[in-house]
Amino acid sequence: MSTPDLFATRASRMKASEIRELLKLLDQPGIISFAGGIPDPALFPADAFANAFQSCLGDGPHALQYSVSEGYLPLREWLVGHMQQIGIECSAENILITSGSQQALDYLGKLYLSPGDTALVGWPTYLGAINAFDAYEPCFDRLDLKANRRAAEYAAASGDGKIKFAYLSPDFANPTGETVDRATRESLLDLAEDLNIAVIEDGAYQALRYDGEDIPPILALELARKGTIEACRTVYCGSFSKTLSPGLRVGWVVASREVISQLVLVKQAADLHSPTINQMSINEVARACFDTHILRVRATYRRRRDAMLDTLRQEMPEGVQWTKPEGGMFVWLTLPQAHDGADLLSRSLETVQLAFVPGRAFFPDGSGRNTIRLSFSNSDEATIREGIKRLGQVLRH
Ligand code: PMP
Repeated sequence: MSTPDLFATRASRMKASEIRELLKLLDQPGIISFAGGIPDPALFPADAFANAFQSCLGDGPHALQYSVSEGYLPLREWLVGHMQQIGIECSAENILITSGSQQALDYLGKLYLSPGDTALVGWPTYLGAINAFDAYEPCFDRLDLKANRRAAEYAAASGDGKIKFAYLSPDFANPTGETVDRATRESLLDLAEDLNIAVIEDGAYQALRYDGEDIPPILALELARKGTIEACRTVYCGSFSKTLSPGLRVGWVVASREVISQLVLVKQAADLHSPTINQMSINEVARACFDTHILRVRATYRRRRDAMLDTLRQEMPEGVQWTKPEGGMFVWLTLPQAHDGADLLSRSLETVQLAFVPGRAFFPDGSGRNTIRLSFSNSDEATIREGIKRLGQVLRH
């Protein structure tokens, strides 16, 4: 018997991520890459981290020791203040530290989904969320925020399995860069009440707003309705990856104590806790400079977004449409129907050495062939302008 015969059924649903494959291209000389949605490493507060690691190690051996599954308490306490700034009143007991928000998505899939259950997701949605949930063998249905589908329609479409949650990234989503307006956040909460499901709010890009008005997170809106986080069905996932450092793998979940204590059990079984020294150093750096650092990050990405939108206006042929994000890292292009994003990528790599992500990967049903995702976070303005000119060239030919 060959080994794959021994694998569980879920293994056959696991696919290599197109994005991970593409990230390998970043190392080739001459390539302009709008592919990976990764932060610019020049923006990492490297000196602050060097000091923080040194001081954590100098403080005694506990930085290298096992620690509690809930996460480093001073960091959770800092997060209580951080969440309060965006309208979410909670206590440290409502917070679990995870190894990146990706781990939170996996844990939430594990906690909520039995095989055949339904997860409502955006169409397109974050590929890493599809992959994380997919291991728990759910069905995916379209969370149709614009068409205002009724609860009964969702329930009917979900077949035998129960609908368990709606997952979305309401601020500057990956891959579209779009923001969900306040009224739609409210109607999503109504839908969640009607269907009696959880809402998983992915706030990975929440801090990266470049213009427009802040919109309260879905959890903040639900808190305003219910008065206490203990009665809320929304689970908020946050991350330091886009603000301080993705390599340290520190994220967090905010939810009712009931959900958090169940997630703690999931974490205990999976990895006991996230790395102690990483949590301690994130805590020091966040306390020392989060608010000033984020201003620098926003200013840099804002210029890059402007350069991309500006050059798209000049260079895109008739029939190409794109989003105008108010934050985040991505612009989403819809090409005329006859185009295929994957074909365009191979032509573009061959002829003009430009990389981006074909949009199909972000649709659970493999639709969206004529879409592509461009990331502006990791290239300077001159490179962005040159890259968009190259894209115009391949599209015109
Ligand atoms: N959610 C979204 C929408 C993302 O784009 C990403 C990373 N690209 C993540 C979650 C996971 O990020 P991390 O695990 O680094 O926090």
